[in-house]
Amino acid sequence: MTSRSFLPLVLAGAIAMGGVTLVAGPADAARPERTVPVRLLTINDLHGNLEPPSGSASRILDPKGPLVDTDGKLTGIVGGKYSIAGGAAYLATHLKQHTGRNTMVVAAGDLIGASPLISAAYHDEPTLDVLGQMGLKASSAGNHEFDEGYTELQRLMKGGCHPVDGCSPAGEWEGTDFDFLGANVLKERNDRYALPPYFVKSVNGVKVGFIGLVTATTPTIVSSSGIQGLKFTEEVAAANKVSRLLVRQGVKAQVVLVHEGDQVTPNQDPSACSVTPGNGSRIASGLDPQVDVVVSGHSHQAYVCKTTDPAGQPRYYTQGSSFGRVLTQIDFQVDKRTRDVVRSTVAAANHVVTRDVPEDRAVATSVALWKARSADIANKQVGRITAEIGITAAPSGELPLGNLIADSQLEATRTGGNAQIAFMNPGGVRMPLNYPGSPVGEGDGVVTYGEAFAVQPFNNLTQVITLTGAQLKTVLEQQFVGGPNNQAFTKILQPSSNFTYTYSRSAPWGSKVSAMKIDGVAVTDTQSIRVAVNNFLVGGGDAFAELKNGTDLWSGPLDIDAFVDYLGKHSPVAPPATNRITVVD
Ligand SMILES: [Zn+2]
Repeated sequence: MTSRSFLPLVLAGAIAMGGVTLVAGPADAARPERTVPVRLLTINDLHGNLEPPSGSASRILDPKGPLVDTDGKLTGIVGGKYSIAGGAAYLATHLKQHTGRNTMVVAAGDLIGASPLISAAYHDEPTLDVLGQMGLKASSAGNHEFDEGYTELQRLMKGGCHPVDGCSPAGEWEGTDFDFLGANVLKERNDRYALPPYFVKSVNGVKVGFIGLVTATTPTIVSSSGIQGLKFTEEVAAANKVSRLLVRQGVKAQVVLVHEGDQVTPNQDPSACSVTPGNGSRIASGLDPQVDVVVSGHSHQAYVCKTTDPAGQPRYYTQGSSFGRVLTQIDFQVDKRTRDVVRSTVAAANHVVTRDVPEDRAVATSVALWKARSADIANKQVGRITAEIGITAAPSGELPLGNLIADSQLEATRTGGNAQIAFMNPGGVRMPLNYPGSPVGEGDGVVTYGEAFAVQPFNNLTQVITLTGAQLKTVLEQQFVGGPNNQAFTKILQPSSNFTYTYSRSAPWGSKVSAMKIDGVAVTDTQSIRVAVNNFLVGGGDAFAELKNGTDLWSGPLDIDAFVDYLGKHSPVAPPATNRITVVD
């Protein structure tokens, strides 16, 4: 535990305003001289995207954007105006351009983890280095901050070299200037906080408290081995407890940074609010009235919403997309006498991180340096593709790239593991493989190690377990919401090409799956089947509880190695068809 984080920290270089503060704010603001203006600039789900993301991962719907999509092929979104967005050096410039008085940069998690090679090659030290340069003051932990385990997250915060890979080319890691916060992450042993639960900053005489939360579903979506001994408790109760503690310390202006969020209606303006109420809305509306603003993440959506707190007051609830494509600006006034946020003064908007601004020179230099360090690894050509292999789901839930990865994992585990079929979790397919035929794609059909790594960045192991036919059917039922395994969203496992089945949209949970076949032969309930999945799924990840009941565990190569091998052996690789699953109503 980092002791430094539990003390209220005073902003170094806080701007002394000489007791007179001129405020431009809404007309109904409290009397200006009695309030201090504060601006938050927030990001979430950067996922180590130091370089500008490419292909569909770079696009964002933007009413001011220059691009009109004509075919909708990349994302399934038809029509609308888009900008190409993201890139740390552009983000740094946008942050500077939006920096006003008493500005703080904070974040809502998943800044690291599932990162491109430039950052992942050095355990995300490059991203943390750059975020420090951008002046980040605090972030909630996200589930992906636990990708390499709690011990590694502590190392990244405190400093020191990696226990296995040693120091990066930059030398001994110095640790972060900010903390990852987790008010709902406790040590099972003694119920103590495993991460600092909050961060307090003084701004021109007023204190602003930030409470960090990570989704309570974290144990179901990260590998269990890295979070042993930790528990992730319900978010609202955990935050309210810290909120009361902060009030006792006189910190009444409170912001919750929560790595949990909601889905939105497609095609919405980044500053609009059309969310499908889920866990994010539950938290945003349930937190104590003392909490003034809720900054969210995790769902990679952009929204600026006004919810209502339990006292009936409006309360902003925001998220800024992903990969550094959007930053959120939140302005408010803190009353010097009550020390609380004047709720009627809160205003928020999302800004697209366009690339029509100059790059921030210092950040661009850092990114270029890390790029050069990782270049030899990243630029190695591993194979070729004949067209973009995308991550847009077919109606069955199959992603072309998900199917390809399942095929690669089956091939890598047949010998040794005796795998007969393979499944890939759809959330682990992070980026498309781009091709020049697509509207904003890049590349020439050559796939580099860096590009392959961007698709499969987790360094998961391929593993093989034995399931009966009946267990396999249970696994596939567990893809759908409504079962006892508590699947939050329908998550269709990506099957290898030799496995086919049918599911019914309307059949009740438990009776959705039928006609399972391996190499065209019907699967029986009692038959033993060797199934290849990654170690995340073997641990019951994504709420696939039945996979934990597999037997005769065998571990194969890393998923990225299996993928790279497959691309090399089968070049040029065409996008696989998405015809392995049949859907009926
Ligand atoms: Zn997340």
